[in-house]
Amino acid sequence: MTKATKHVYFFGAGKADGRADMKELLGGKGANLAEMVNLGIPVPAGFTITTGVCTYYYEHGRRYPKALPAQVGAAMARIEKIMGKKFGDPSDPLLVSCRSGARASMPSMMETVLNIGLTSATIPGLIALTGNARFVWDAYRRLIMMYSDVVMEKAAGLEPAEDQGVRKQLERVMDQVKRQVGAKVDTDLGADQLETLCQQFRAKVQQVIGKPFPDDPQEQLWGAVGAVFQSWNGKRAISYRRIEGIPDFWGTATNVQAMVFGNMGADSATGVAFTRNPATGEDAFFGEWLTNAQGEDVVAGIRTPNPLNVATKSEHTEHLKSLEEAMPAVYARLVAIRNRLERHYRDMQDIEFTIERGKLWMLQTRTGKRTGTAAVRMAVEMMRDKLIRKEAAVTRVTPAQLDELLHRILDPKAEKVARVLAKGLPAGPGGAAGRLVFTAPDAVAWAERGEPVVLCREETNPEDVEGMRAAAAILTARGGMTSHAALVARGWGKCCIVGCGALHVSAQDKTVSVSSQTLAEGDWVSLNGSRGILYQGKLATVDPDPENPMLVEFLAACDKVRRLGVRANADSPKDAAIARKFGAAGIGLLRTEHMFYGEGADQPLFLLRKMILSNTPEERRAACAELYPFVKADLKGTLAAMDGLPVTIRLLDPPLHEFVPQDEAKQKELAQALGITLQDVRNRAEGLHESNPMMGHRGVRLGVTYPEVSEMQVRAILEAAAELRAEGKKALPEIMIPVTCTVNELKDQQALIGKVKAEVMKKFGLKRLDFLVGTMIEIPRAALTANRMAEVAEFFSFGTNDMTQMGFGFSRDDIGSFMPAYLKDRDENDQKITPILPADPFQTLDIEGVGELVRMGIERGRATRPNLKVGICGEHGGDPASIHFCHQVGMNYVSCSPFRVPIARLAAAQIAVKDAPKKPAKKRTRKAGKSKK
Ligand code: ADP
Ligand code: MG
Ligand code: MG
Repeated sequence: MTKATKHVYFFGAGKADGRADMKELLGGKGANLAEMVNLGIPVPAGFTITTGVCTYYYEHGRRYPKALPAQVGAAMARIEKIMGKKFGDPSDPLLVSCRSGARASMPSMMETVLNIGLTSATIPGLIALTGNARFVWDAYRRLIMMYSDVVMEKAAGLEPAEDQGVRKQLERVMDQVKRQVGAKVDTDLGADQLETLCQQFRAKVQQVIGKPFPDDPQEQLWGAVGAVFQSWNGKRAISYRRIEGIPDFWGTATNVQAMVFGNMGADSATGVAFTRNPATGEDAFFGEWLTNAQGEDVVAGIRTPNPLNVATKSEHTEHLKSLEEAMPAVYARLVAIRNRLERHYRDMQDIEFTIERGKLWMLQTRTGKRTGTAAVRMAVEMMRDKLIRKEAAVTRVTPAQLDELLHRILDPKAEKVARVLAKGLPAGPGGAAGRLVFTAPDAVAWAERGEPVVLCREETNPEDVEGMRAAAAILTARGGMTSHAALVARGWGKCCIVGCGALHVSAQDKTVSVSSQTLAEGDWVSLNGSRGILYQGKLATVDPDPENPMLVEFLAACDKVRRLGVRANADSPKDAAIARKFGAAGIGLLRTEHMFYGEGADQPLFLLRKMILSNTPEERRAACAELYPFVKADLKGTLAAMDGLPVTIRLLDPPLHEFVPQDEAKQKELAQALGITLQDVRNRAEGLHESNPMMGHRGVRLGVTYPEVSEMQVRAILEAAAELRAEGKKALPEIMIPVTCTVNELKDQQALIGKVKAEVMKKFGLKRLDFLVGTMIEIPRAALTANRMAEVAEFFSFGTNDMTQMGFGFSRDDIGSFMPAYLKDRDENDQKITPILPADPFQTLDIEGVGELVRMGIERGRATRPNLKVGICGEHGGDPASIHFCHQVGMNYVSCSPFRVPIARLAAAQIAVKDAPKKPAKKRTRKAGKSKK
């Protein structure tokens, strides 16, 4: 860093050095404060110390760049000039806040100190100036509490015992004073009482920390700045970063900003709002506010906040006065700012504001976190209103958020009869049932044992983050829709109820009581997070509605944007119907063997077994003939359900011995049917035994050795299609030959298919019969020789499960013993290390290795057959990162489980937008030109 480096970016009086797109340097908060200033929105003047300073600080043994103090001094002087007050001036002191702000929003992770600059020298002056002693002492007691906690204790690295921290101790002092004077809430305390309280606070700080509370404004300022940088490496910030995948090197910026006061009396207030409803997405201004309070009060749930406007009052808040009613003129100004911000950012904003004696100030804006339901609705409505284009709309919903809409909810029927324990605020979507736990570590421990848990807390704080993550749902007794628990849960799309006032939580006893009932750790409860209802017991859950109109419209936009097709893996007419409902454009994998499992499978399974245990081609042919009608009926049903959409039908794949009966009764039955002895059955079964069945007699190898088995299946497929045609319906089967490694296997089966085709066409008197023959590319050799494979195959479907298995040489069923070690990214001392593998390759396609086989297979295949159709049918077909890869290597489609189809449609749209060549939008160029001036 040279002397010329700009460490400090100023904002205020209508002009700012920074802009919204400078988040890397200024952090999200600083960049957006600058942007608001540039938009002419009232923001108290201030400046941002860059993230570069934070990085420098950690790289240089916690020292600042030399030029920093002078730049800070100059910026302070500019604030003083704008505000007409001086920092430390005994007669008219400027007070400032010191606020952290990382690039990505980290709710409550970092520390903020308000009211910096109050000292024994400035307090009397401020009292004289404002004539409001109560306000000044209130501000001072807040400064002492925040500063001693954040700067003197946490940043100094003190680690007091649980409950012995300075903040807790000061809270106890305050509670005691409140009790003595009979005050219910903080606002009931008068000036004298607060003054005494401040004296007690200072004594307490001295006693707990062993140092006096700093009485010098510069010391306070630099202490706070240092604490913000320190807090970047605080325990809770690190834990949050680890969960959210935020890199440590990003650093945080620090904002120093002139104070405005929401605690100057009844005409002052503070609030938090969302420009649209973050839970439902409704285009309604939604927020909470408190009179005579300072910023952090609303979020901390100190008092129950009031609703912002009449329209968004709920049954819990209808008795409270809204800002719209209490201060109509201020409210109107706030609405105008809301509209301005939405038009400017073209997205829902999460804002903070303060009203000082009737004057409105904005203190923060950022893109608001939202539930999946809200994300979809906002994207659709903003697209309808032409605020954003469809390409932007599809980027507004993450796959995880979409997943929430596809997520389970409590069974409404079960809810009707369930016992309601309590009602609270609906902070996180969906439904969940779980067993009660009362501490974050318990939540983690229980969840590790595989127990679904509901983490129940009085209110949550950042220390609880890991437990909240582990829990199936979160429940709090206190806090509003903008409380910590609500923000975090919404960000994660986790079921959550907050402000459930009827609950009395005892973390110590690990119980919660509600009316006359007490529930203990381990008891089952169920939550409807979308409506805020807590039920006793374990309620059934149900799957979501794919016909939700917002979802349908959103996914239609995705379909317009994407290039990659999306099919489903489905084995039955029922699955096929679900797949179509979710928007699948075909079936990418139908496993014929499914019909031998589960309901209604007895008869076909018996016949299959008969076939397997046959000893001669004649026996086998006879068994096949008996099996044939079942196979045909089954495939016909699925082909009919797909109504002319392509259906890739894989010929019998698993090793046959998997179907051999193990119990004696079944074996006897078979002996009888085959006219052989029980011992014969056992011997024949024995004969099928293989030492490595996954690489044994399976897939196309069965078709080569038992051509009558392939023939029967091919006939069933083609006759089913022919019959459907005769019935005036459409069918488009694609015959897929599995586990191939050489083109000669395909040639062998092709001959057989050709023969059956001719027979079927003759039987049905058809001139043409549309179907494709292709193969599953899952053995590395098949990918390497794809140019040859494509001589016969009209399509490839990459079976990336087996290809991962064979590409890595990892037996999928046996990875449990070593995969955790391969994925480990922390050493014994919890230090970050590079894991051996970046991800489980069975979940996310290994692009470097297995992906290379795929890429090569496609290139070589298309070299032979340019119009070769290519898809993927492994589990990866539903994984967004893998889908992006499939798009990039030019596949025609991905195929995944029916419930993942919407996610795949979204992921395919997002990668299409991301990879589209960027053409500068006209509006942008104009704006960029303007801001240069
Ligand atoms: P967080 O990132 O935890 O939201 P903030 O820096 O936004 O922390 O500050 C906490 C609270 O203090 C917010 O409600 C904010 O609006 C309020 N606040 C911060 N700076 C000022 C200021 N200069 N004047 C008045 N209120 C402020
Ligand atoms: Mg904030
Ligand atoms: Mg396979």
